[in-house]
Amino acid sequence: MKFETRAIHDGQSADPATGAVTIPVFQTSTYQQDGIGKPRGYEYSRTGNPTRHALEEALASLESGKHGLAFASGVAATTAVLQLLRPGDHVLAGDDIYGGTYRLLEKVYSPWGLHVDYVDTTDPNAFAAAVLPNTKLIWVETPTNPLLKIADIAALAGVAKQAGALLAVDNTFASPWFQRPLELGAHIVVHSTTKYLGGHSDVVGGAVITSLDDEFNDLKFYQNAAGAIPGPWDCWLILRGLKTLAVRMREHERNAKHLALILEKHPAVKRVFYPGLATHPQHELAAKQMSGFGGMISLELNGGFEAVEQFVARLKIFILGESLGGVESLVCYPPRMTHSSFPAKERHRRGIHDNLVRLSVGIENVDDLEQDLRNALG
Ligand SMILES: *Cc1c(COP(=O)(O)O)cnc(C)c1O
Repeated sequence: MKFETRAIHDGQSADPATGAVTIPVFQTSTYQQDGIGKPRGYEYSRTGNPTRHALEEALASLESGKHGLAFASGVAATTAVLQLLRPGDHVLAGDDIYGGTYRLLEKVYSPWGLHVDYVDTTDPNAFAAAVLPNTKLIWVETPTNPLLKIADIAALAGVAKQAGALLAVDNTFASPWFQRPLELGAHIVVHSTTKYLGGHSDVVGGAVITSLDDEFNDLKFYQNAAGAIPGPWDCWLILRGLKTLAVRMREHERNAKHLALILEKHPAVKRVFYPGLATHPQHELAAKQMSGFGGMISLELNGGFEAVEQFVARLKIFILGESLGGVESLVCYPPRMTHSSFPAKERHRRGIHDNLVRLSVGIENVDDLEQDLRNALG
């Protein structure tokens, strides 16, 4: 079956007890057992819950994976993947990553004993050159947050194979509608389901998808043992979001493409980062490994922080806020918001300058969005 059909049906067949067409919210902590040692499939909701199970099956299907696991947040999902490693292991991470992932690596897992090196996301050879005998994990986002750089997933899968390491891809920005890393050779996909998968800015969640049985068993063990699970309501909201993922992503992209072209020509704009633009340095790679370019745009304004402050203050439809991927358009200032956990020096070294703004283009009417940006740019 095709993606749009699976998004609505996989893991979500009608409830056998009642015929309910939507998966019920199983708001229960425990389950009656038929006798000692005779549970009916569920025992305790940290370990398993039918609403969560439906979400996990749907997520696995959409990412072309065998197994899915839902977590309480994107960083909880990332944590689960890092728990596959042991103190002394080495991680190669892309240099442009979500601030919270950087914080987790630097402030939680480095003290715990992981060694982390950051490598130019766009250069698979640089990853190959940085591999050490104890390298166990390559971690990238693509497109990256916030500079929309593209990592060559198939090439990195080759590097990981050579190194005997796992390749994990944070697919939050693309969503499985536009990019399926497992099909390109990645071992693990991670999502902040808070973003496009939930899609309505009303829930926080995360997910890990893999086709590897051993890693799945370890991840599932950790999910139950450490307990960072989402509640049934949150799973239900994300499931509802998934059903319209394809429709929403088409609109996000259509709007973003239109606005990126306009921003690129605007005199108040210094530079636009959007993989769908022919001028994006990795446009061809993006076109090869993605079926579309998504709804995220970053831009540098002419001027410094004052220009950004003025721009943001003049916007009427784009809402100033963290997060992304919801139906409403958002504007974010990465240096002080999503990427404030990078020290200033590291931020600048990575190309996140004080005139950078990130847009999550929503699915409002594009004429209104264009007008809003034009007004704010003056
Ligand atoms: C938001 C985000 C995360 C973290 O997810 P939470 O749900 O906020 O914990 C991880 N990666 C990317 C790319 C994100 O945008």
